[in-house]
Amino acid sequence: MTDSLTEGLDELARELDKDHVFHSWSAQSHASTLTIASGRGARVWDHAGREYLDFSSQLVNVNIGHQHPAVVQAIREQAELLTTIAPSTVNLARGEAAKRIVAHAPSGFHKVFFTNGGADANENAIRMARLHTGRDKILSTYRSYHGNTGAAVVATGDWRRVPNEFARAHVHFFGPYLYRSEFWASSPEEESERALRHLRRVIEAEGPSSIAAVLLETIPGTAGVLVPPPGYLAGVRELCDRHGIMLILDEVMCGFGRSGRWFAFDGYDVRPDLITFAKGVNSGYVPAGGVVISDPIAATFDDRVFPGGLTYSGHPLAMASIVATLDAMASEGIVDHAREIGAESIGPALEDLAERHAVIGEVRGEGVFWAVELVTDRKTREALPAAAMGRIKSALVGRGLLPFVQDNRIHVVPPCVVTAEEVADAMAIYDEVLGTALEGEG
Ligand code: PLP
Repeated sequence: MTDSLTEGLDELARELDKDHVFHSWSAQSHASTLTIASGRGARVWDHAGREYLDFSSQLVNVNIGHQHPAVVQAIREQAELLTTIAPSTVNLARGEAAKRIVAHAPSGFHKVFFTNGGADANENAIRMARLHTGRDKILSTYRSYHGNTGAAVVATGDWRRVPNEFARAHVHFFGPYLYRSEFWASSPEEESERALRHLRRVIEAEGPSSIAAVLLETIPGTAGVLVPPPGYLAGVRELCDRHGIMLILDEVMCGFGRSGRWFAFDGYDVRPDLITFAKGVNSGYVPAGGVVISDPIAATFDDRVFPGGLTYSGHPLAMASIVATLDAMASEGIVDHAREIGAESIGPALEDLAERHAVIGEVRGEGVFWAVELVTDRKTREALPAAAMGRIKSALVGRGLLPFVQDNRIHVVPPCVVTAEEVADAMAIYDEVLGTALEGEG
């Protein structure tokens, strides 16, 4: 229910924002005017009290759902005790957080370096790989997002890598994407094999002994939830092993439950040398990220200084929230729930929508990590234009659903705790909006 007081707050929030806040990833005159004041589970409310289903998870972040009481309580208790501490000191919450994170990593990982988010996690993983190997080059894919700091934005393959004033010793290649294959492949197996051949050629052409690391999102997220085809990640591992190249898997978006597994790479026959994380580790309740370091790389720095550090590395509020988040996820079976709701509700419902709406070219994903690719024509696979996507986004918001819309895709990415009823409500909204998506598209 809204009234004049809450409408006034909504208006004030928008006015202050317009006057004083400089937004990321947006021309300032086109910045969003949607307000969000509070949340619970998979729902949020604006300052005027209007309710929305959050099927964006706030940049695919809030895996545990909004305002999980145990995590809020842990932050509150930590705040009463100690709210900041230098990274060089020892603190119980930091050790407890690191221990819980490595518990979900494969054997042979014991150490965690904490950062403030995903970009600086990748930044430091790249530095570790370079120092460990004594090599310079980093290879990553064009369809990727790794963050918006120096080396992370250079590693990013999409349009955000420009201006790349930091670009140095960095090479991009094409990863697998069967729906729009660069390799003229017609099956997942063929796509995997050809993408691996392409990577092998890039490594040979660049000179294997100059390459420190291959950096990959296990499941490229912002680029379209590109679930890797069979054998691809294992094949990349093999190529890396052959040449002494480190494999960094970026689990910032796909990690900690999003794929229906603790780490997305648990579903593939692959073992990285460095794992980067952020977002789902504490659902962004307090900014946090980090690098999980395999023993041989950690040993490089036993008697050698790692030239990296951040004032807020292992911040007590972040650490307390990680401990509470991972404990709640384990005790409440939240990762299992994400896997089941994906397999039993979200996936089948999206396939059902695809049967009824010609605008859907492809549905792909797992867990609570899905993308629906919209096209003007299923045969040509021409992407639905930006103006039509803009109309779809507004129509979804107008019906009470916060979507994650990227290029010609709707990413269906609710919190891991989303219920079957909420999925059904969201599907009814997508259904209604997609029914008119092709209007005016010739
Ligand atoms: N890596 C991946 C896969 C991401 O999706 C993101 C952000 O969306 C990042 C890194 C950057 O994380 P942050 O925005 O916390 O710096």
